[in-house]
Amino acid sequence: MMRTDGRRPSATPRMAAWRSFLVLPLFFLSPAARIHVDGMMRDVTYLASTIGPRVAGSAEERRAALYILSRFDSLGYPARLQEFTLPNGRRSANVIAGHAAEALRVVVGAHYDSRPNAPGADDNASGVSVLLELARQMAGKRRDLLFVAFGAEERIDRNRSHHHYGSRHFVQAASTGLLQGLSGMLCIDCVGSGPHFYVQGMRNDGGTLAWRCRYVANQGGIAVKGGWAGPYSDHTAFARAGVPVVYYHRSPHPLTHTPRDTPATIRPEYLRLAVLAVSPAIEAICNRP
Ligand SMILES: [Zn+2]
Repeated sequence: MMRTDGRRPSATPRMAAWRSFLVLPLFFLSPAARIHVDGMMRDVTYLASTIGPRVAGSAEERRAALYILSRFDSLGYPARLQEFTLPNGRRSANVIAGHAAEALRVVVGAHYDSRPNAPGADDNASGVSVLLELARQMAGKRRDLLFVAFGAEERIDRNRSHHHYGSRHFVQAASTGLLQGLSGMLCIDCVGSGPHFYVQGMRNDGGTLAWRCRYVANQGGIAVKGGWAGPYSDHTAFARAGVPVVYYHRSPHPLTHTPRDTPATIRPEYLRLAVLAVSPAIEAICNRP
C-alpha cells in the first residue's frame, strides 16, 4: 500500500530481519568489505614501531626490505630485491613483485625508507601497507603490473637533490621498451593522515592519467583534489622518462620527518580510501586497449 505522506512504511521486526539477511551478504561481497584494514595497520605498526626509523642504507632499511619481500612472497608473488649503491657507499634495494615482463602496463610504487629519527608511519609505511593490500587483492588476477617498494626515497644528506635513489635506479635499469610500454606509474606516498586527499599528475602527459584516476575515485564516491604534482616522490623519475604518472598523497601532514610520525597518527579509514581509489585506477588503466 502506498502512503501519501512520502515516507516509507516503518519496518516490522520481520522486515528488518529480512533486510539484514539481504544486506549483510551484499556487504561482504562489496569491495569495501574485502579490504583488510587491520592487516594494513599491522604492516604500518611493524615497519614504524617494530623496526622504527629506516634510513637509506641502514640495517633497519634492509630489515624492512626483507619484511616486505616476505609479505609479497606469502601472497604468492615472484619477488626480488633490486640492489643499488648510494653515493655514500651504502647499499639499498627496491623490492619488486609481480609476474609482468614484456606485457607490463602499470608500476605501482611506495617507498619504505624514512628520515633519521622518524618512524615514518605516514611517510611512508602507510603507502607500503596500501601497496601490500592492493597486491593481496590482485594476487593471481593480473600479470601486467608490478608492485615496487622503493628504497632510499628520502634525502640522504643536506643536498636537496640527493634523494629518490630507488626509483631513479629502477628507471635507469629498465629497458626503453619497458618504459615506453608503460601506461602509468602510480606513486603512493603519505596516505594515512592529513585531511585532504590529492591525486595529481605531471605535465609530461598533460595530466591526463591523473584526470582519469580522479574520475574513477569520484565514481567510487571518494572526494579527491587535483592540481599538479611537485617533484616530491618516486613518480618524478618516471615522469622524466616520459611515463604518465599519478601521485597519491594526503596533505598537510606536519608530523612527517619527525619522531611523532607514529602509527597512532594513522587513520585506518584513510588507508581504506587509498585502496578504494587506487584499485579501480589500476583496473581502468590495464583494461584499456
Ligand atoms: Zn615519502
